[in-house]
Amino acid sequence: MSTREDAPTTINLLVVDDDVVDRMQIRRILNKSPQSYAIYEATTYEEGLSLFKQHHFHCVLVDYLLPDRDGKELVQALRQIDEFVPIIVITGHGSEELVCEIMRLGASDYIVKSKIDEDMLPKNIEYTIRQSDSRRKIQMLSTFPEYAPIPIWEISPSGQITYANRVAQQILRDIPEPVWNHPLFEDLPRTFPIFRQTNKWEFSREVRFGKHVFLEFIVYVPANDVLRIYAIDISEQKKLEEQLTYRALHDPLTGLPNRNALMQHISQYLERARRDASFHFALLFLDLDRFKIVNDSLGHLFGDKILMDVAQRLKENISEKDILSRFGGDEFIILTQYEHDATEVVRLAEKILRVFDQPFFVLKERIYTPISIGIALSSSRYESPEELLRDADIAMYRAKTLGGNQFMIFGKDMHRHTVERFQTENELRQAIQQNNIRIVLQPIIQLATEDIVGFEILARWTHPIRGPISPATFIGIAEESGLIAALGEWVFIQALQTIRAWQDRWNSKRPIRLNINISNRQFRDDRFIEFLIHNIQQFQIDTRRFILALELTESAVMEDAETSKLILSALKGLGTEIHIDDFGTGYSSLTYLKKLPIDVLKIDRSFIISMIDSKEDYEIIRAIISMAHNLEKRVTAEGVEREIQAKTLLKLGCDFAQGYFFYPPMSPKSVEEVLIQHEMLRPSKHISSG
Ligand code: C2E
Ligand code: CA
Ligand code: CA
Repeated sequence: MSTREDAPTTINLLVVDDDVVDRMQIRRILNKSPQSYAIYEATTYEEGLSLFKQHHFHCVLVDYLLPDRDGKELVQALRQIDEFVPIIVITGHGSEELVCEIMRLGASDYIVKSKIDEDMLPKNIEYTIRQSDSRRKIQMLSTFPEYAPIPIWEISPSGQITYANRVAQQILRDIPEPVWNHPLFEDLPRTFPIFRQTNKWEFSREVRFGKHVFLEFIVYVPANDVLRIYAIDISEQKKLEEQLTYRALHDPLTGLPNRNALMQHISQYLERARRDASFHFALLFLDLDRFKIVNDSLGHLFGDKILMDVAQRLKENISEKDILSRFGGDEFIILTQYEHDATEVVRLAEKILRVFDQPFFVLKERIYTPISIGIALSSSRYESPEELLRDADIAMYRAKTLGGNQFMIFGKDMHRHTVERFQTENELRQAIQQNNIRIVLQPIIQLATEDIVGFEILARWTHPIRGPISPATFIGIAEESGLIAALGEWVFIQALQTIRAWQDRWNSKRPIRLNINISNRQFRDDRFIEFLIHNIQQFQIDTRRFILALELTESAVMEDAETSKLILSALKGLGTEIHIDDFGTGYSSLTYLKKLPIDVLKIDRSFIISMIDSKEDYEIIRAIISMAHNLEKRVTAEGVEREIQAKTLLKLGCDFAQGYFFYPPMSPKSVEEVLIQHEMLRPSKHISSG
């Protein structure tokens, strides 16, 4: 170790003595010494003090008797200025009393005047310098722990604090000893014997004290048989760590455990179930049935609000042991333990379904979001959390396809169902890519004249093995898998190409419609709407002669009536018509119907089927037609299979009809033949000849 107080090459010495003979003697002795000295002389207290203040001295010799003041006063004054400088007092005699007094006042040593000789004086000076140097060093070293920014304690085996630096004293004042009850020193007594017996001298640990967390380094000091404790406050770091851990395991929006946390919980439960055959649990996969619509129509802020409300509602309705987590988007998962059989789980599922019968309130509006629940039971011997989740998801999905607002417990047959579904999805993807989807056209006639006024385009998929598959089946799969985008675009291009072909050969002055089905999901897809707009412009359809009619369902346009209004107006601006498909099967708001730019209502086939036998349905049809006409909208009847239906509809003032009674859906080639037959289309040879 090196300090700045190494032995000086020249010793600066101050001699304060009024006796010139004494001074001469001292000078003579020291000049003979091999050590070099720079000697300053003063004769009075004042002179000595002032010299001391001007220079740096390694040692001071003070005569006990000074003319102006007492030598001991000078000792005191010098001590005040420098705590360590060696001060040797020259006394007349070495009485014990006197020596005690001058030493008490701060002198380092004394020499009896008569004993000053060549041997002793240099030794005395050098010895006191060395001594005060080491005191200076010790003092300097002691400032390291003393001013250290972390608390340091030393504690004896009996629990007494034998040392505490400044910070330590600030942290703990007046702590009753023994200190072993304090969190900072808990458990330490039993370390003494361990330390004493082993070669291990230190260890570290984290302790909590109030709001603080300390990392303690505990060192055993064998020489003093004490424990030295350095404590670093790591509260900030801990807080950040805890925040990060919290974030990693919680959903920021609802504060619920997130997917990561859930996976950990499931793993723990599975592990427990493996060890303990009597431990059963179930995973409930919850999915809001209408959240996307709510989110799209009300905006994310309100969507978030609803998700928070949903979380709250779920929290209030589960037991303390249940673990509720947000899995993602509008998916929540409950892990619940059950004792005997799954009826307990079923009861929970039913309770939750009932809870969602109540609306949520956003901007004073009532929003209903029913929920679908899929349940997987731990009794099925699952290996991994993923398997459990997958099955609960499949069951949830089943519940949803059955109309939602219900729960479903996963059963073995569901795998087959899913596998089949994915297979179908794959084949459908290929069919779209390989152009194995066809379109057929079903004529729509004007009831009064029985003239063909348009066609509905219907997709057809002829499966290589399973034969023709109804769009009623595959449109659903296309929607769920996202294939609807490609399918819809393909159908739409077919429609436009068909019209373009007719446009060049069309005979009739009467405008003709081509109806295209737009699924709910397509209508909600901005890219599809852009695609529609772009292509309608591209194909340059003569809208006086050809009218594109978009068939939308009530639910598609009603779910977000304000946005629908904008989209519909834009589409209408391009010359298209808007027809409402399957009218009467959803809840519709007649007020909105009035406000929206809708041209035609297509009364659902289910009303037509029963209109002759059911007075009620007959009345409904009549009411729809009259209301539509009041709103200056027209009506098409779907699925007309019998003459009596057609006649009755005509009597009720229905404008158009479509159904097997008139024409089935036909291939484009057959349609062409019908059109030529009706002299609506010029035969191709006319075109080729000019
Ligand atoms: P939709 O829009 O209600 O179409 C009418 C359905 O009724 C067609 O079934 C049609 O073949 C059938 N139909 C017509 N007349 C009669 C009749 O007199 N009696 C009976 N029983 N049925 C009749 P299809 O072609 O199986 O289509 C089913 C549904 O698939 C359609 O219902 C439509 O919602 C959807 N769809 C069909 N093609 C497309 C398409 O290209 N895109 C979209 N997004 N959906 C489509
Ligand atoms: Ca339709
Ligand atoms: Ca329909």
